[in-house]
Amino acid sequence: MFFSTRDSEKKLYKASQVIKQGLAEDGGLFVPDSIPTVTLDEIAELANRSYPEKAARILSLYLSDYTYEELLEDAMNAYCAASFPDGAAPLKKIKDNTYSLELWRGPTAAFKDMALQIMPRLLSRALTKTGEENTALILVATSGDTGKAALEGHKDVDKVKIMVFYPVDGVSKVQKLQMATQTGSNVNVCAINGNFDDAQTGVKKIFSNTEAKAKLLENGYILSSANSINWGRLAPQIVYYFHAYCELLKNGEITLGEKINVCVPTGNFGNIFAAYLAKLMGLPIDKMVCASNSNNVLTDFIETGVYDRNRKFHLTMSPSMDILISSNLERLLYFTAGTEATKAYMSALSADGRYEVSEDVKKAISENFVGYCADEDETATALRNYYNNGYLADTHTSVALSCAEKYLRDTNDTKKMVVVSTASPYKFAADVYKSINGNEAAEGTGALDQLEALTGMEISYPLKDLDKRTVNFNTVIDADDMLEEVYKFM
Ligand SMILES: *Cc1c(COP(=O)(O)O)cnc(C)c1O
Repeated sequence: MFFSTRDSEKKLYKASQVIKQGLAEDGGLFVPDSIPTVTLDEIAELANRSYPEKAARILSLYLSDYTYEELLEDAMNAYCAASFPDGAAPLKKIKDNTYSLELWRGPTAAFKDMALQIMPRLLSRALTKTGEENTALILVATSGDTGKAALEGHKDVDKVKIMVFYPVDGVSKVQKLQMATQTGSNVNVCAINGNFDDAQTGVKKIFSNTEAKAKLLENGYILSSANSINWGRLAPQIVYYFHAYCELLKNGEITLGEKINVCVPTGNFGNIFAAYLAKLMGLPIDKMVCASNSNNVLTDFIETGVYDRNRKFHLTMSPSMDILISSNLERLLYFTAGTEATKAYMSALSADGRYEVSEDVKKAISENFVGYCADEDETATALRNYYNNGYLADTHTSVALSCAEKYLRDTNDTKKMVVVSTASPYKFAADVYKSINGNEAAEGTGALDQLEALTGMEISYPLKDLDKRTVNFNTVIDADDMLEEVYKFM
């Protein structure tokens, strides 16, 4: 069962309700009422299992109103060879003691696929389990990557429809093409005249419009979101840390029980929080290195105990980490400080953009987490150095590579380090190209071809021949007309 991080009464909810609802009524995030454990023997046994089997096993520990068979079916469909032709999460040795866990081998070439390929299936079942007769209409405002991953994950899933809004000039040409060429019978994509905030505000307005919600309900629709704070997106992320450990074990790189470190390029704190849960469940992880770009609010927080979003916002070449409010951090605060303190921190954050945790909480956090950041030059240098040593990484992964090096330099820690790789280099081809050889790349899809010619690494399958695909969506509307567009889609 689950309850909200902000509920002193700890009212309990079933997993299906939690996945259907996303966020608790009090604005808190859902957390499990206890942490299930996995023994070393079970980990050794999991090492002989396929990725979907590992996923079904780990998910079944949390989603207790889903059967193992249901979870296995969903995992097999989510992580099938058609979507992940190179396997769900290949682990590559890239240096002595350093490994890259490639989470971007899925249908949109970014790590969000790992959660978004399975979450919609869990949601579809959640609707049935909670007796919901209406269709869930997912509305998403995107500045690029999440929109495409959400579209791919929800397409043709039963009892679900999805509509994505993006700022007409606020996403890259490649991202625009990815969304405009989307297929599926239950999807819609719409560009907004305005910026990302206009799109997001428009979606929020629809969510809080009672009249609109009543009209949607009359027509058989309830609104839902595909947000990264949904437990249904977090839980599938725990799996790949177990998988990484199992792979190291299977390949004889570690012995059973040997501790490893992980380094995670972080934005909303979802990916790295899943590592923390894996550790609480018994996976032998020592340190979690929280890697940030120039938006280093988390680096400062881990070091000083002060979370302060009142700072300059930097646009970087790792845009998915350009975040000043890391929503999932609330879950860590709950686990280390409890409900009352978490509530106080969160209201200080919304009132002043700042809070300071107690010395005890700070200490508990730094027993598990170390924070490092890499600026644009350091990121480009790490990218270039690894490329020259035979490993091509994207810009987000390169932030983590740079941070992992700093951690090693400071500690001389000899444990194996798993660096989490979150996007295909081709997803950010122009910046990757420029980081390697200093030259500006061509506009749009031209950069992909240039990077392929330079590196000889094949373009990720979801990004191949993008400009030759059929454009299915080219509507551009004003932000004020978003609701009208939703009605039309309905
Ligand atoms: C979303 C994203 C991240 C950040 O992950 P969080 O779970 O938000 O910390 C890092 N890299 C890429 C490429 C992403 O898309």
